[in-house]
Amino acid sequence: MAESRPVLDIVAPFLNEAQSASAFAALLDKLEAAVAQLFGMDVHKILVDDGSRDDGAERFSRALSGSWEIVRLSRNFGKEVAVLAGLDRSRGDMALVMDADLQHSMDTSLKMIAELVENPDIDVVYAQNDRREASWRRSQLARLFYSLINSSQRFDIPENAGDFRVMRGAVVRALTSLRDKRRFNKGLFAWAGFRQKAIQYSPESRATGTSKWSRLNLIAFSLEGFTSFSVIPLRIISLSGMLAALAGLVYGAKVFFEVMFYGIAVPGYPSLMVAVVLLGGLNLTLLGLIGEYVWVTLSESKDRPVYIVRDVMRGEMAPDRPPG
Ligand code: UDP
Ligand code: MG
Repeated sequence: MAESRPVLDIVAPFLNEAQSASAFAALLDKLEAAVAQLFGMDVHKILVDDGSRDDGAERFSRALSGSWEIVRLSRNFGKEVAVLAGLDRSRGDMALVMDADLQHSMDTSLKMIAELVENPDIDVVYAQNDRREASWRRSQLARLFYSLINSSQRFDIPENAGDFRVMRGAVVRALTSLRDKRRFNKGLFAWAGFRQKAIQYSPESRATGTSKWSRLNLIAFSLEGFTSFSVIPLRIISLSGMLAALAGLVYGAKVFFEVMFYGIAVPGYPSLMVAVVLLGGLNLTLLGLIGEYVWVTLSESKDRPVYIVRDVMRGEMAPDRPPG
């Protein structure tokens, strides 16, 4: 037994990816062989079944080899939480987080691991999607989102970077110490700090299955990012409220003088309607936004665990650890 070899944990969440099970297991095998050969590291695979409704876990358990475990969550908690569940079980010197849908390649993974092995000054290497295929409108929206969210804090959330990354054990422990229930990993990664480095990559196209991100999901996700990492929306609210009040005051004064000196009796019913509808709409929107903050506060204040483990399947070579 080579006790002293460093260990790389590979964390991969999956939801209804039965079709890619054997291909992903094969990719992990190749990755394991390469990591052993190039860096002299052992690999432990931690897959997280995020409440799949297909037989993905069974298929993965048949296809995986070497040291592995599959953490089955009691239901779907979302990818952000599934990643946490995997990282919680990571005890290695480094952890690689990747998707199980074959969109994250072995090449990029090896490049990131190499950066970390060769450069002791870096703690995290993340893959930055060069987004060649994204539409102009979408990329402008993303840019706006990041510039807004980054305008008020001491750390920057990098654009186009997701969970696909390699980090040292210390970073994993820092991240798992953040028990936010409504998780926005991009924000948490940035908040945790450490010396980070980006490498460029373009994701493979999905081999099978479909992306779990609908347009509505994306909007909800952005709101989560905003409300848990930025006070800017609240500032915009106060500012626009003050501006509207000021405009109302000026307009009121104008009407007052007109009535006093020219005797015009309440003209401009249309402008009144415009003001009422506009302000009403603004009010509702901004109330909704404040509601988001209240909801975040409420869900964080309930003392519930972030996720619940149904059971843990493990390969024969996996270290024996209690579930949960
Ligand atoms: N995933 C998950 N839970 C979810 C949604 C997705 O574990 O609620 C997994 C999914 O199986 C995949 C990874 O997270 O391995 C990335 O999801 P997806 O491919 O849908 O996202 P995209 O690549 O489109 O960003
Ligand atoms: Mg994907």
